[in-house]
Amino acid sequence: MNEFTYFANEIRALFGSGTRKQLSDEIAFLGACRAMVITSSNSRETIKQIIVELGDLCITHFNGAEMHTPIDVTQKALSLAKEHKIDCLVAIGGGSATGLAKAIALRTDLPQIILPTTYAGSELTPIIGETENGLKSTQSNKKVLAETVIYDTDLTVSLPVMQSVTSAINAMAHAVEALYAEHENPIISAHAEQAIITFYNTLPKICLNPQDITARTDALYACFLSGLCLGSVGMALHHKLCHSLGGGFGLPHAATHCVVLPHVIQFNAHVRPELNQLGNRLHSSSLGFAIFELIRACNGPTSLQEIGMKETDLDTAASLTMSNSYYNPRSATYDDIRELLQNAYSGIAPDACLI
Ligand code: NAD
Repeated sequence: MNEFTYFANEIRALFGSGTRKQLSDEIAFLGACRAMVITSSNSRETIKQIIVELGDLCITHFNGAEMHTPIDVTQKALSLAKEHKIDCLVAIGGGSATGLAKAIALRTDLPQIILPTTYAGSELTPIIGETENGLKSTQSNKKVLAETVIYDTDLTVSLPVMQSVTSAINAMAHAVEALYAEHENPIISAHAEQAIITFYNTLPKICLNPQDITARTDALYACFLSGLCLGSVGMALHHKLCHSLGGGFGLPHAATHCVVLPHVIQFNAHVRPELNQLGNRLHSSSLGFAIFELIRACNGPTSLQEIGMKETDLDTAASLTMSNSYYNPRSATYDDIRELLQNAYSGIAPDACLI
């Protein structure tokens, strides 16, 4: 075994069915008593119930979290938090609600409790991406790390099938890139492999029956593992590409990950053959093809075209990706990136690509 450095963030995590019932105790555990609940505008019945159960602990509810954490939304939520003298943030939702809690924590150092309802994985990372004037910038700061994450499997059951597919592939992408990250290590790689295999086996079951609580539990556990990967080791070309496409062209976050991942895996497998050995364990010729086929079988998006990308923007997207340096196990030229984007745009199977 090669020499390695292992790093872990300090986070308290509660996992299981019904764990949301422990939210009030967790607020008290933080020594807080004036919580602001943060959600997206699409507030579901379960979220309303959680707010009712919090009683006087919930001082206010901000339900305007948006994808890519726009700074003007953060300013509004921040004013509300100050007005109500909030001492704790409770985000319930996907990466958008989590992102807003992180953005407020960045500016106030308020403690956060996150209840994830998608598989985005943001709840375990010190990373925050924010958007202003159409430009997305990302930073890593320990201030945005949540104090507590409550993984309640029941909260994920309502996630529509298509969002479950794209969100799971978003999480899988964290695990895949951890396998060849700059700070890769065998402990995180073990989590990553387990997450990839679990999602691979579970996603078709969720598509067949979204109420399958065993499959939902397995998927949320795989999401937990993927979040650990994202929070511990750096990411690479795939995340850089998705960041350029999401921030630069407003493409939906999780769906973009879904389309791009098989192509980046195929590209990097040239220098990391163990990726394809993992694909073989999934009974496929390559990991890129295994994931592409999984997405296709689950009726997920396989082309940038179908998620709203314009072909005329591919040159700009390639330039944007080249504009800032990033780690990747295989160096990529402008032409490589442009070709990869063209393949992803057209939705051709990754094993048919030559780069
Ligand atoms: P999202 O949070 O925007 O959720 C998408 C929609 O699904 C919303 O309308 C939401 O209300 C709804 N939804 C969420 N859970 C649901 C459920 N269980 N049932 C029914 N509807 C539900 O989408 P996302 O993909 O989870 O998050 C995307 C955002 O997260 C992006 O801004 C991305 O940049 C960020 N992100 C950040 C990190 C990080 O480490 N910083 C990691 C991953 C994603």
